[in-house]
Amino acid sequence: MAPDEAAQHETLLQALLNGKLPDAEGRFGPFGGRYVPETLMPAINRLTEGVYRLLPEKAFKNRLGSELRDWVGRPTSLTPAPRLSKEWGAEVWFKREDLAHTGAHKINNAIGQALLAEALGATRIVAETGAGQHGVASAAACARVGLPCVVYMGEIDVARQSPNVDRMERLGATVIPVTSGDCTLRAAIDEAIRDWVSDPIETYYLLGSAVGPHPYPYLVRELQAVIGHEARAQIRKYADLPDAAFACVGGGSNAIGLFYAFLADENVQLFGVEAGGRGETLGDHSATLSAGRPGVLHGAHSMLLYDDDGQIQETHSVSAGLDYPGVGPEHSLLKMIGRVEYVTASDSEALDALAECCALEGILPALETAHAIAGARRWAASNQGTRILIGLSGRGDKDMPILSQYPVGNRRNGEEAVNAAA
Ligand SMILES: *Cc1c(COP(=O)(O)O)cnc(C)c1O
Repeated sequence: MAPDEAAQHETLLQALLNGKLPDAEGRFGPFGGRYVPETLMPAINRLTEGVYRLLPEKAFKNRLGSELRDWVGRPTSLTPAPRLSKEWGAEVWFKREDLAHTGAHKINNAIGQALLAEALGATRIVAETGAGQHGVASAAACARVGLPCVVYMGEIDVARQSPNVDRMERLGATVIPVTSGDCTLRAAIDEAIRDWVSDPIETYYLLGSAVGPHPYPYLVRELQAVIGHEARAQIRKYADLPDAAFACVGGGSNAIGLFYAFLADENVQLFGVEAGGRGETLGDHSATLSAGRPGVLHGAHSMLLYDDDGQIQETHSVSAGLDYPGVGPEHSLLKMIGRVEYVTASDSEALDALAECCALEGILPALETAHAIAGARRWAASNQGTRILIGLSGRGDKDMPILSQYPVGNRRNGEEAVNAAA
């Protein structure tokens, strides 16, 4: 790297640490911004004004703080993983977002934005969902706050994630299947934005990850940063800071939430783990930062998966929550300046890591989360004796229909079981 480039990267890191990024245009260096139609600008400006006014306000902080404590169940535990540690030859700690209400970190963002919507005087909420996890968190948060919730979901996802559709409806949300575009998450985001534009005063758009136009990547990071702030304070009660921290990256919200508190800790190496899927061919993975190029999707300039004709690529991952061709702009910056390293874990590595976590620690992680564990496992093999923090973004109960396609093979009939136990 040229010396002036290294200096420029250091300047950008300092700007990030000093709270100067995103800048007034919502840019994280060359990434981010607001690539939206003119008709959306009044709504975006209202939201931006509200975010910067309300988030630092004492009354809002108190309200959010008590909901996080009493309803979400924060702080979540920091759990040592002794048997996994022994197996890997490293000291492993889990930050347990799987213990948060509704089973993943997504609720931190959903309740924060639902409270923001209420404070801004919105009377209804729209949200998008892919696998349904953000839809469930939004439905729960809206019920809690007392606002009606409409969730847009691609019709393909509605069909393959029916238990989550049922959960959302029981929590009072209206689920609208989207039949346009690719009929999955990408189309659902487009529809949610369309709905928001049609009534930007009464409607609040509750976006589910650290993506989209400014101020969303900033807002979602601020709401998820509680993960890293807690984890950093918790680990210091027992030990020094970790040598490395790992989190899986879909849109990037749990990862930025974990990493943000550690950005200034030079000695803590940070690793985002993307879905390597079934191979390196475009279309076989969701490794946006590892294999993508800069481009614009859903209102922001960031890394993106598209082909030589500029067509956004269909992505693949065994975990539905990582299956997205874009990524949050702050991650694109963190990769560019080299503060975070982005690696991949394949479908089969994730499945193996999930099995190992179940067997050795009695924790069934989400398939998304299993990618972070797989990335950490590989790193531990060549970094023996290190201390490793892993963001356990969610629990795997929701993945049972997929996991049942990969039987563990330890089921026995009665007689076999008796013999095996003897
Ligand atoms: C949705 C989800 C993810 C991916 O989303 P990010 O915004 O990248 O965090 C990861 N883990 C779990 C458990 C999820 O539900």
